[in-house]
Amino acid sequence: MRDLPTLFTALGASRFRSSFKLNVKDQAYLQAKGLPLVLDHARDFIAKRLAPASLPNDGKQTPFRGHPVFVAQHATACCCRGCLQKWHQIPPGRALNPQEQDYILTVLAHWLQYIGSNRPIDH
Ligand SMILES: [Zn+2]
Repeated sequence: MRDLPTLFTALGASRFRSSFKLNVKDQAYLQAKGLPLVLDHARDFIAKRLAPASLPNDGKQTPFRGHPVFVAQHATACCCRGCLQKWHQIPPGRALNPQEQDYILTVLAHWLQYIGSNRPIDH
């Protein structure tokens, strides 16, 4: 786990990671549902798609569109256990503990609130 300023500086320097932004539909969804509810969905995605020790589809479990949290996961490298290892120093092969799941949620919340929504709208 990394501190947020260091992490977001590194993500901002990655052309791939910084290319993700919320499209009009994602922004409308976020606004209509509100951040707390969207983060409930994120908590659920983390628990089901990232937290288990073994994920047969790791690297492919996070769609690129369809929910603002999916976009946030790719933008912050919280999309799979491989990226969590590379970017967040969270080792694969074991279940994520509650602190790690909370950390991922905090990272996603920061991106959704401050970064994903402020970018130019992508059609
Ligand atoms: Zn990944």
